[in-house]
Amino acid sequence: MKTIAWIGLGFMGNPMSKHMLSAGYIVKGVDIDLAAREGAAKNGVEICATVAEACKGVDAVFTMLPTGAEVKEVLTGPNGVFATIDPNTVVIDCSTIGIENARAVHASAKKACRIFAEAPVSGGTEGAIDASLTFMIGCEDPHVARVKELLAPMGGYIAHAGGPEAGQAAKVVNNLIMGVCVAVNCEATALAERLGLNLKEFFEIATRSTADNWTFRVWNPGVGVVASAPASKGYKAGFKTWLLAKDLSLAMDAGREVGATIATAEAAYAILKNHIDNGGADMDATSLVLSLKDAAEKIVPQKATA
Ligand code: NAD
Repeated sequence: MKTIAWIGLGFMGNPMSKHMLSAGYIVKGVDIDLAAREGAAKNGVEICATVAEACKGVDAVFTMLPTGAEVKEVLTGPNGVFATIDPNTVVIDCSTIGIENARAVHASAKKACRIFAEAPVSGGTEGAIDASLTFMIGCEDPHVARVKELLAPMGGYIAHAGGPEAGQAAKVVNNLIMGVCVAVNCEATALAERLGLNLKEFFEIATRSTADNWTFRVWNPGVGVVASAPASKGYKAGFKTWLLAKDLSLAMDAGREVGATIATAEAAYAILKNHIDNGGADMDATSLVLSLKDAAEKIVPQKATA
């Protein structure tokens, strides 16, 4: 039986590692958070105290961590993954870390003679739970087949976006669109409420009209509009506000690197940052609608002057 290590057992890592167990892999897991460890242990993950312990003798290592900082620490640190694994072990990072961090990790892997692929995902916790994630692989051609085979139990569409950095480039561009959609869906919902629209009826209208988008349909910001959406569960994440802001900042970084203008990302980032400062960091990103509604209530409507 093949054994893998899974580092980062949060909202995404928990259901993803569960699919690997169902596919017949032995899974050794690590997380710094007790609740995450307990949740994964219930699924059958063998919890290890350290990354080095989890990685000893495994066929593959997966990371699903918040940002590039944790991924670099876990993969390239002195007792990290690259220092511990056998040369034939495949390391796959599924986190969203951006192009620059991916470049740094590929360079460290090359220096340590390790096999590394980035494979960021799209599809949200919903896609992680029902194993329909879209994977965007960035790695050298000879490793693609092995990486695709390892991702198969969790994926609906597994794409080789290109060589090193291409997976993160695809993810950054995807989440530029997604992040701006979440922000505008929240603005539109706050406006629709103030205009006295019935949000459930507006959902029926918009999803049959030109405003339709995936985040509006699946992560609708209106309470009770979509029963399975975070908004109908007290805005509990889902996808945390600070992680979405991170993704938009990665798009802004990418834009700066190649001289592209992405003003909508900057605007969406600014309102998300304001919501984070209001205490919304760990709530679902669609809770942005709460800050927008608060702000609207503080503004006295201006009467038009003749
Ligand atoms: P999360 O915060 O729920 O999970 C991250 C886990 O990593 C946490 O359990 C945390 O305790 C653990 N962790 C942090 N530092 C660690 C360390 N040094 N060692 C071991 N464990 C550590 O986040 P998530 O929603 O699962 O997102 C994970 C990644 O996936 C992020 O990069 C995010 O941007 C991306 N992503 C999330 C979604 C989503 O809908 N939630 C969708 C696509 C991509």
